[in-house]
Amino acid sequence: MEITIGRTLLRLVEGDITQQETDAIVNAANSELAGGGGVDGAIHRAGGPAIHEECMRIRRERGRLPAGQAVITSGGRLKARYVIHTVGPIWRGGDHGEDETLASAYRSSLELAREHGLRTVAFPSISTGAYGFPVERAARVALGAVRDFLLRPEGQGLEEVRFVLFSGRDLEVYERALKDMS
Ligand code: ADP
Repeated sequence: MEITIGRTLLRLVEGDITQQETDAIVNAANSELAGGGGVDGAIHRAGGPAIHEECMRIRRERGRLPAGQAVITSGGRLKARYVIHTVGPIWRGGDHGEDETLASAYRSSLELAREHGLRTVAFPSISTGAYGFPVERAARVALGAVRDFLLRPEGQGLEEVRFVLFSGRDLEVYERALKDMS
């Protein structure tokens, strides 16, 4: 499914984010930037050790990355030139600012992409795996945050924002949320 927002194509696909040929892929990292399970582990495995080394340098220079913020590294052996690492919120019942932190993770990632002049970015479903954020609510927040960014002047240079959902069920949830939004 795809729609146009401002001048940007917003696409929802089922697939593996490590295989995307966008300028950047986004990693659902943790605050330590240390790699881990889920999509984080898959990106580090596919991209090779250069990404981890850059993450460790960033970690030494600026300490832990708070939830809602993002940093950028090269893409190592990935097809994507860059990896944007962001940290989503851990779900704590829904009234601990989780929505705002999740929106901030998407927004910060898109801001970094624009600062680097990137035109195409692929996102996974941040926080809906190990971090336990319910996917229906996460889809609404994620798509709303991306739409709001694309309607701002900074969003105008992006050609495509792609959500790469790892299961058919997650794709359906995101498709429903996008229909409800448009
Ligand atoms: P978080 O800790 O932010 O919840 P996870 O990696 O546990 O991150 O899960 C986030 C989402 O990424 C989940 O929907 C999971 O199914 C999905 N995922 C895992 N591997 C991949 C992959 N290779 N490509 C795209 N999505 C993936």
